[in-house]
Amino acid sequence: MAEFTMELSDEQKEVRDWLHGFAADVIRPAAAEWDEREETPWPVIQEAAKVGIYSLDFYAQQYFDPTGLGIPMAMEELFWGDAGIALSIVGTGLAAVGVLANGTEEQIGTWIPQMYGDANDVKVAAFCSSEPDAGSDVASMRTRAVYDEAKDEWVLNGTKTWATNGGIANVHVVVAVVDPELGSKGHASFIVPPNTPGLSQGQKFKKHGIRASHTAEVILDNVRVPGSCLLGGKEKLDARLARAREKAKKGGERVKNAAMATFEASRPAVGAMAVGTARAAYEVALEYAQTREQFGRPIIDNQGVAFQLADMRTSIDAARLLVWRASWMATNGKPFTAAEGSMSKLFASETAKKVTAQAIQILGGNGYTREYPVERMHRDSAIYTIFEGTSEIQRLVIARTLAGMPIR
Ligand SMILES: Cc1cc2nc3c(=O)[nH]c(=O)nc-3n(C[C@H](O)[C@H](O)[C@H](O)COP(=O)(O)OP(=O)(O)OC[C@H]3O[C@@H](n4cnc5c(N)ncnc54)[C@H](O)[C@@H]3O)c2cc1C
Repeated sequence: MAEFTMELSDEQKEVRDWLHGFAADVIRPAAAEWDEREETPWPVIQEAAKVGIYSLDFYAQQYFDPTGLGIPMAMEELFWGDAGIALSIVGTGLAAVGVLANGTEEQIGTWIPQMYGDANDVKVAAFCSSEPDAGSDVASMRTRAVYDEAKDEWVLNGTKTWATNGGIANVHVVVAVVDPELGSKGHASFIVPPNTPGLSQGQKFKKHGIRASHTAEVILDNVRVPGSCLLGGKEKLDARLARAREKAKKGGERVKNAAMATFEASRPAVGAMAVGTARAAYEVALEYAQTREQFGRPIIDNQGVAFQLADMRTSIDAARLLVWRASWMATNGKPFTAAEGSMSKLFASETAKKVTAQAIQILGGNGYTREYPVERMHRDSAIYTIFEGTSEIQRLVIARTLAGMPIR
């Protein structure tokens, strides 16, 4: 087990500085344009692929960093550049992690390369879980997967919504119900290969923020995928369902807690994205406060402004510490006894919303215009308290853990 440390190694610092350079030189200058266009920034993704940032190798290297700091460090730097573009770059990673976590070696080797494509022909992937009537309440999912034994095929039917890269992805990972009696334990994940008939994009959403990231409905109309597209394979699924049925008979508490642990481990990464956006807005506000003069002196000379900056910086550092702790715990298999993963996501996402609003205030009228980036950062920050579990759901998880209650 790696000791918890706040000191990055020389190698980690090198990676951080390299990512920061890409975020400053490539992502940030493109941010306003792609926000206005509300389109996937393919040229930027391609640029990231050329230098090796958009690749499974890079993602896996950070994911398996034993200190647990690889992913949060990478997320913070990329999202410091711009949240919409960064989500377009890391969105594929969310689907890839689904395959890495549940897939067989053969599935990992077959599908993950097709999710990324290559630098000359980049592709993206989508992870489709949410549905119109199943957002926070994942257990009410309706998309069905039925096994056609004669053909060794699964047939998927349903409507997914809010899917990042949904419909434009080369590979879709779809979560569907295989046993409605078991709630979320009766779900399984499937690969839908490129150009599979029956999968189509529904509505593409026009959003408040992260507008460079494509978000859309995905319609599944009698989508047939080979048996080999069930992540983990049929044998493993049957064994898991049998165990879940057995545990459900005994009360189901341990089943629910296992599901919670999985979400807890992925939440700090979203917290790190929020830290990146908050830090970006804070830096703009600090520089502005040092240079903007009113009443014959820089506005930072007023405590009313300087104290806001002090609070902003304090919250950002506190958020990063919670994120790093949770990420270290997840990587090193430490049990989340107080929902530390949820704590990190809750605090960091609320911090990003608050800090970006404070940044607008410090920039005055300029902060309210699209001439300065804090207006966009504020719009972008609103997503962090919604996706991957809303702030209310994080509080619910933390409170239930503290009360010793099972997660529902
Ligand atoms: C830009 C964007 C990208 C996304 N990307 C993906 C993706 O790639 N894949 C994917 O599967 N999903 C994705 N999502 C979906 C996202 O995870 C959901 O929006 C989120 O889980 C909330 O679900 P909901 O929108 O249905 O809200 P609801 O669950 O309907 O919640 C509405 C409100 O009620 C509150 N609420 C609900 N239940 C409770 C409760 N028990 N106690 C207190 N308050 C409660 C919520 O906190 C919220 O404030 C994305 C969403 C967005 C906006």
